Amino acid sequence: MTDRTDQYGRTIDYMRVSIIDRCNLRCRYCMPTDIKWLPPKEILTLEEITEICRQAARAGIRKIKITGGEPLIRKGCIELIHMIKAIPGIEQVTLTTNGVLLAKYARQLWEEDINAVNVSLDTLDREKYKEITGFDALSDVLDGISEAEKYKIPLKINVVPQRGVNDGDCLELVELARHRAIHVRFIEMMPIGHGKQFESISNNELLLNIQRRYGQVEEGKKIYGNGPATYCHIPCFRGSIGFISAIHGKFCSSCNRIRLTSTGEIKPCLCYDDHISLKEALRSGCKDEVYQLLLRAIRQKPAQHCFDEDQTMITEKKEMAQIGG
Ligand code: SAM
Ligand code: SF4
Repeated sequence: MTDRTDQYGRTIDYMRVSIIDRCNLRCRYCMPTDIKWLPPKEILTLEEITEICRQAARAGIRKIKITGGEPLIRKGCIELIHMIKAIPGIEQVTLTTNGVLLAKYARQLWEEDINAVNVSLDTLDREKYKEITGFDALSDVLDGISEAEKYKIPLKINVVPQRGVNDGDCLELVELARHRAIHVRFIEMMPIGHGKQFESISNNELLLNIQRRYGQVEEGKKIYGNGPATYCHIPCFRGSIGFISAIHGKFCSSCNRIRLTSTGEIKPCLCYDDHISLKEALRSGCKDEVYQLLLRAIRQKPAQHCFDEDQTMITEKKEMAQIGG
């Protein structure tokens, strides 16, 4: 058993790092309009986040995803990426963003040699975008995607289908992969925070719609990125279509991740409130203790989530924006 093997034999080599609890959008399944921001002193500094990533690399973490809230609104986000990229053992640093500020930062992300960017985009309809996110920012996101393409940054578009809202737009989003090297991925809604109020549409339903429109598609085995997505290829498409089926295709047996919140808590599983706080050890300068706590979090990962079972067993009360997705 190596450091990064958990009690179920899974290799844990991926850490999602939320660097801010705030966001410039209010996606209605993710961040309530009346959310209370955390006091700034609660939030880890860039140096503290870097130190945790350094200790995580010692514990076997190889891939880091920068997330939020919206990571690109945090001052110093690019500098942080630079610092994390320089850590020995870290092989990949990627970013997930709503894309609103991507046009502004694409060049700097490319200069930092970011390994990939995921853009969250649930519709290509301007009015619907406003309805889902609370802001009229679709054109900014599309500009951001174009700018990132200009620098040939590997891109994925993440879509969360919502019944009666954007489920009818999914095939239009699929079309983004026709002529462009973009992977469009559909994420099943998870019952976390405001997400509980929405039905989780099965990705199987979506795959059937795709097959109805495009005929039999090639179900690809190639995995792009760090996670549990499965992909299919539509003949003649440049990009591919991915499915992250957290609810209807439970993939806990291959889970490879832990999560760091912006306040310095390590979460072994999205579903449960169980966490290990690193802040005290970190702020007292006990780096080795941070490393030991990270190992403990890896070993403590539960076997599986219970999203598909009795939802009263879900103990996580935070919103997804406070966790980082
Ligand atoms: N602001 C960035 C963004 O939107 O990509 C990063 C943070 S956001 C919490 C990360 C991802 O979580 C987004 O793709 C978002 O759509 C997804 N997400 C938020 N709430 C969710 C839920 N209840 N179920 C599934 N995905 C969710
Ligand atoms: Fe903000 Fe991302 Fe949540 Fe939307 S999904 S509210 S962009 S954190």
